[in-house]
Parts: sequence; structure tokens; C-alpha cells
Amino acid sequence: ELVLGLESTCDETGVALVRGRELIADVVASSMDEHARFGGIIPEVASRAHLEAFVPTVEEALARAGCSLDDVDAIAVAAGPGLVGSLTVGVAAAKALSLALDRPLYGVNHVIGHAAVDELVHGAFPDRTMALVVSGGHSSLLLVDDIATRVTELGHTLDDAAGEAFDKVGRLLGLPYPGGPHVDRLAREGNPTAIRFPRALTLPKDRERHAYDFSFSGLKTAVARWVEAAEDSGRPIPVADVAASFAAAVADVLVSKTLDACERHEVDTLVIGGGFSANSQLRELALARGAERGIEVRIPPLKYCTDNGAMIAALGAAVVARGVAPSALTIGVNSSMPLETITV
Ligand code: ATP
Ligand code: MG
Ligand code: FE
Repeated sequence: ELVLGLESTCDETGVALVRGRELIADVVASSMDEHARFGGIIPEVASRAHLEAFVPTVEEALARAGCSLDDVDAIAVAAGPGLVGSLTVGVAAAKALSLALDRPLYGVNHVIGHAAVDELVHGAFPDRTMALVVSGGHSSLLLVDDIATRVTELGHTLDDAAGEAFDKVGRLLGLPYPGGPHVDRLAREGNPTAIRFPRALTLPKDRERHAYDFSFSGLKTAVARWVEAAEDSGRPIPVADVAASFAAAVADVLVSKTLDACERHEVDTLVIGGGFSANSQLRELALARGAERGIEVRIPPLKYCTDNGAMIAALGAAVVARGVAPSALTIGVNSSMPLETITV
């Protein structure tokens, strides 16, 4: 079965073709350049960009795969979570294709797609897999019994997502938007133990209610205070040390809680996905500590970590393979789709 996957939850228009667990084509167009000068995504601009990019992106994916729309057996589209306008363009396009081609439509969860894409790279997930999905909008820990039918959310961020915290720290250090990759690069030149920033929700009292929840907004404030104090004292700000110490705090909390969850739930495979899994401090720490604790850590290559069509086609293919019922052509979009909802 050839599955066409469509992604348009934010600023990337992604189109991919997957057969089973084989990626046949994957094309991504992004409107980030149009947003960068505003220092944030402008939803109307993103929606309009999807509208313009969709047909050319589908055509390019088909051309690269050397096939035509007639060869497509099923259509998967991200129906949430994300920006309402962006989602609407993708879901409307997917419905039009489903009607015109008379092929089933599957509305799927974008965030679960961030984990599912790893099956294209490292093969099928074992029976129980832990998934840490970290991005600009999410930081969630998911226990995956079956990527197509059963996902349980063990915890999530109570405030900022990891990528969002990086973007905010990037802004306060005067780096371009989005700041995440710039903070990462700067952090590689600094000393991660120079400043001891707080690790939220890691006290013994948090182990009951918030064992697997995260919180990054206090950390961001601590960085802002530290920078302000340094400015007031007239000292030069050691930006690389600030970035490295901040990045170390984020990676430490994410990795400690995730590996604890793996042990507690007796899971020995961990998948890390989402745009923030591109973060080198997180990747290094997860691989090192995972190895120490006998947990296999799977992280897709960078291009499958940020938003793309392959992640949606991968989840679509898993759903099709499991015989899940297609979505109705009356489905809407859900900007805050719960992370335990795999298909709509
Ligand atoms: P969601 O998937 O929750 O809807 P999103 O689609 O906006 O959110 P992604 O595109 O998956 O998020 O990820 C983008 C985020 O990842 C941004 O916040 C960006 O700064 C961050 N990011 C990307 N690369 C890095 C990096 N190397 N280090 C830190 N942050 C990074
Ligand atoms: Mg994006
Ligand atoms: Fe995403």
C-alpha cells in the first residue's frame, strides 16, 4: 500500500510517500523565511504559504517517486495539533484528494508522527517503546504500546516546551529567531557546569504528582535574571557559558525523567523525536546515559526531526497496516489534539 502523507500543522508544507516502512519520496517547503523577520510565526502568512505550496510540493514528491496520484492507495494528513489555519489547508487538500481519487483518508496526530517517523529509519518499534517528543510546541513523554492504536501520555510540560524555552533564551541573548539551533551552537563552545541553573520538578515531593512532567519557564526566568545581574555589574556576559549551562539543565531534566520512566515501565527502547531532538546536548546526554542504563536510544536523523511529510506518511502507513478505520470526510481539525488520540 502506497501512503501519501501531508503535513501542514505550522510553517512546513511536507509531502511524502511511504510503502510499508520504506520512504519513497519526501519533500518539504517552509515559510520560515517569511516569519523570521517578525520573530515568530504569523498564522495567516503560514496558511497562505501552505495554500500556494501544496500542489507543487505534491507534484514534486510524485515526480521524485516516479509515480502518479493513481498509484496512491491511502492519504494521511496531520489533523492536529497545530495552527488552525495551517491545519485547515492541509486537511481540505487531503479531503479533495480522497474524494477525487476515491481513496481512504486518515487524519492523524502530528506529535505522534514525530515518534512514528523513526520506524522508517530504525525499523518497527518493539512491543513497548518510550517516546520523548520535544519540539517548539510540545515536551511530552509517551508510552507506546502500539504506535497505530495505543499511546499513553505519562507526562508533559506544565508551561514552555523545550524548543520554546531555547527560542526565548536565544532572544534574550540577542540571537536570531528561531533561537534554538543558535543556542545549541553557542552552548557547544561553553562550559556546561559554569552556572548551576535550576532543575524544575525534580525534588522528592514532585515524584508523586509530577514524576514525568516538565517545566522550563522558571529556568528561562533564571537565565534572564542571571544575565540581568551580570549586565548590572558591568561584567562582560559569558554567553557561551550561559548557553551551555542552560542547555545542560534542559537536557539533564529531560533525560533523567525519561530514563526513570523507562525503568519504571520496564521499557528498554527509547525514541526521541520532534524538532528539539535535533539538540546536540540532548542527543549526547540521552545516548550516554541510555548506554549506561542498558536502554537503546533511537533518534532519527535531523531532517526527520523537524516537521516533514515522512512522519505523517509513516504514521499513516502504520495505521493502514493495522487495519484502523479511515476518517470520515467530515473531520475537522483540532489545534490542541490530545496526545493519546492517534487517528480521528
Ligand atoms: P510541534 O511539533 O509541537 O507542533 P513545531 O512543529 O513548531 O511544534 P518543530 O518544527 O518540531 O516544532 O521544532 C521546532 C523547535 O525546535 C523550535 O523551537 C526550534 O528552535 C527548536 N530546535 C530546532 N533545532 C534545535 C537545536 N539544535 N537545539 C535546540 N532547539 C532546536
Ligand atoms: Mg516548524
Ligand atoms: Fe512538529
